[in-house]
Amino acid sequence: MALVVQKYGGSSLATAEHIKNVAGRIGRTFDDGNQVVVVVSAMGDTTDDLIDLAESVADQPDQREMDVLLSTGELVSCTIMAMALRSLGYKAISLSGAQAGIETTTSYGQAQIAGMNPDRIMSELDADHIVIVAGFQGVTPDLNVTTLGRGGSDTTAVAVAAALRAARCEVYTDVEGIYTADPRRVPKAQKLEEIGFEEMLELASYGVKMNPRSIELGMVYDTPILVASSTDDGPGTLIHGETDMNRDVGEIRNRVGGIATDTNVAKITVRNVRDRPGIAANLFEPLADQGISVDVIVQNASVDGATDMTFTVKRTDLDRARHVVEEVSREFGGAEVITASDLAKLSIVGTGMLDATGYASKMFRTLADNEINIEMITTSEIRITCIVAEGQLDRAARALHSAFDLDGPESGATG
Ligand code: ASP
Ligand code: MG
Repeated sequence: MALVVQKYGGSSLATAEHIKNVAGRIGRTFDDGNQVVVVVSAMGDTTDDLIDLAESVADQPDQREMDVLLSTGELVSCTIMAMALRSLGYKAISLSGAQAGIETTTSYGQAQIAGMNPDRIMSELDADHIVIVAGFQGVTPDLNVTTLGRGGSDTTAVAVAAALRAARCEVYTDVEGIYTADPRRVPKAQKLEEIGFEEMLELASYGVKMNPRSIELGMVYDTPILVASSTDDGPGTLIHGETDMNRDVGEIRNRVGGIATDTNVAKITVRNVRDRPGIAANLFEPLADQGISVDVIVQNASVDGATDMTFTVKRTDLDRARHVVEEVSREFGGAEVITASDLAKLSIVGTGMLDATGYASKMFRTLADNEINIEMITTSEIRITCIVAEGQLDRAARALHSAFDLDGPESGATG
């Protein structure tokens, strides 16, 4: 008898019909002789609808009340799922995040799981129950309900799997797995059988829908995560810690595992700032204080003691960021602030790339041959990123996908 932890996303639970189908799948897993814990997201667009509702009565809804409100989305789906299972003849019980023993920090709207007490889940499993846990939520030491940030049910699921020492966490969603690129941009994208945690982290934060914190948790607790479709029985993609060794056997492999794309990018240039110690700190501290994260940063070589500084932020943060930067630049005297938002981020991702030669040059050559201008470049241990014009992103992504031998047959894969 194995302990199986499954998670179902909102689009797989959008209607009563969807819920009955998923209940059937859960029931079959139980019938196969497993103990089953299921983590559910809110049905369909419920979370967005609740946010809209709150914003229709208050400009800036109180954060504590907001978290209680948003937690109700997952409460609806876990109770309805338990009812659906019971009407199929299974013994099922729903648990809120608090009842499931999920303790969090107090940062409302983006709380972190601080600890997990699995006793209640264990005793329900001992009583032969299928346990349905409301995702995306927890409780602080002083019993305030919190939520874990958008897509947080993934994090709940991996935390539960790790705490119960399940062999893996199964995440069922509306895609068949993780692809070598976004199939909507790159028709020849292929589904991967497996991917390393670190590579996945880059792909997750660049658009593939998996909450990055869930991947980090999986990595820390060494809990493999299987991402697969909730409607067909395909094998999905296993995210785990061992792909590097497995793929490295034999001939020298292509280290690029995928192409990541992101259009939530804007650029801010501060021109004509004096080149002296403290400028970067003065500029970036107030941004950090506002919770605005800065990504690619380039400082030009200075001419006559003055320099330009260019960096990217999320496009959704641009207005706030520009405001902060303009404020600070006034103190610099003579500095000019220019912004642009028709940009995109394009990365090749793969472990071990920086130990090998030729990846960066091949990326740049491919873009050059396709007459795509690179605005900025940045690298990490496992990725090389270029900022390009958004209008050229799809063409650029397809060219890199071919150049790094990732193309499969043109498919009707949906993203
Ligand atoms: N319902 C929440 C959201 O839409 C959490 C989740 O789906 O994982 O962000
Ligand atoms: Mg959702």
